[in-house]
Amino acid sequence: MHIKMPDAVSMIINKLLGAGYEAYSVGGCVRDALLSRTPYDWDITTSATPDQIKRIFPRTVDTGIKHGTVTVLVRSESFEVTTYRIDGKYKDGRHPESVSFTASLTEDLLRRDFTINAMAYNDESGLVDPYGGEEDLASGTIRCVGDPIARFGEDALRMLRAIRFAACLSFVIEENTMSAIKRLAPSIKVVSSERICAELNKLLISDHPELISLLYDTGLANTIMPRLVPLFESGTAGKLLSSLSGSVPDKTVRWSVLTHFTGGAHEIMRGLRFDNKTTDSVCLLTTHSSESYNDISRSDLKKTMAKLGTELLPAWFDFLDALYGKGFSTSLRKTSNDIMEAKECFLMSSLALSGKDILSLGCPKGIAVGEVLSALLDRVTEDPSLNTPDRLTPIAGELIGNINKNQQSE
Ligand code: ATP
Ligand code: MG
Repeated sequence: MHIKMPDAVSMIINKLLGAGYEAYSVGGCVRDALLSRTPYDWDITTSATPDQIKRIFPRTVDTGIKHGTVTVLVRSESFEVTTYRIDGKYKDGRHPESVSFTASLTEDLLRRDFTINAMAYNDESGLVDPYGGEEDLASGTIRCVGDPIARFGEDALRMLRAIRFAACLSFVIEENTMSAIKRLAPSIKVVSSERICAELNKLLISDHPELISLLYDTGLANTIMPRLVPLFESGTAGKLLSSLSGSVPDKTVRWSVLTHFTGGAHEIMRGLRFDNKTTDSVCLLTTHSSESYNDISRSDLKKTMAKLGTELLPAWFDFLDALYGKGFSTSLRKTSNDIMEAKECFLMSSLALSGKDILSLGCPKGIAVGEVLSALLDRVTEDPSLNTPDRLTPIAGELIGNINKNQQSE
């Protein structure tokens, strides 16, 4: 068994070995390498303590030193090097309340959540796999290391991680692991929103977003996404699941599809502590979900483009395609491309007259300026050829004249 590790990882491991310690790549990176997937990052586990690690490498950062993690910097890359440890209970939800270091790799692997995540590798010893991870990888099985009830009792997030890995890897959750999730589902309530969000997000942008159905099957939905429940109880979840699996694997698109069906986009996104940008994008998309966009006029499309902003347009098209079928947005995409290529104005900032120009034409200061600009934008949206200073100035003059007349008569 040989795994090709990045040079920097081999270098770190070899330096630790050379200093007389044990060291392996471990966890997700070993799992992904064995599956011929590109690991997201390479973690290293070692018998060296944080102080010993820091003595060996010139550039380090104390990322989680209490929990035994030192980040080693190699050129512009960084790698987490963690001392073999045994975890206590996970209290703050991210790190175990107490950890103790151990000299045994097997004990370190024992604290890990699933057998497929509990393997270590280096070139000297090859694969270290005391809990049958390789076999579970081959059969596509998510199985707890040890007794599932005990493991989920230590850290309830693992229940959601099991579903997330099933969705990311197209694996099946082993029976005992599954029934433990069903039994302990309510205990997910002690886990922080940030941790839940990270796992839900990975589940949703995976190859199998439809496995969100497992949240209902296991009872986790009751606590972490109660709005899913009525969809399943009323037998209308099918459309949600097929829309999700037919959609592009994009965070904004998938969350928009999900919250289109559940309702409550804002409540859900805020509750999960999503960043403002993603939350705003999802809320905007879910309020632009009508099937009648199919035969919208060119000028109405421009108004919608102004509301959504050009950056969000590709996600909007993907979102509509997910809801109404591939190809639904084809003509919308084409028309919006035309509009952009012809540089037709649909934003106030692209009007041939600016707020300053409007003021110098005698418009009173304040909200009137915005009103004039907005009226000009409406005219230009209908007739792009109006968007020159020459043609807009008389129209603006007339609008300003009306405003001044109205103010005098008040
Ligand atoms: P990803 O590819 O999404 O990063 P990963 O398996 O690397 O997946 P991480 O959250 O990066 O997941 O964790 C790295 C490793 O740490 C896991 O493979 C697992 O061995 C261990 N681990 C992470 N979270 C837990 C947890 N909650 N309980 C037990 N072990 C965990
Ligand atoms: Mg990882």
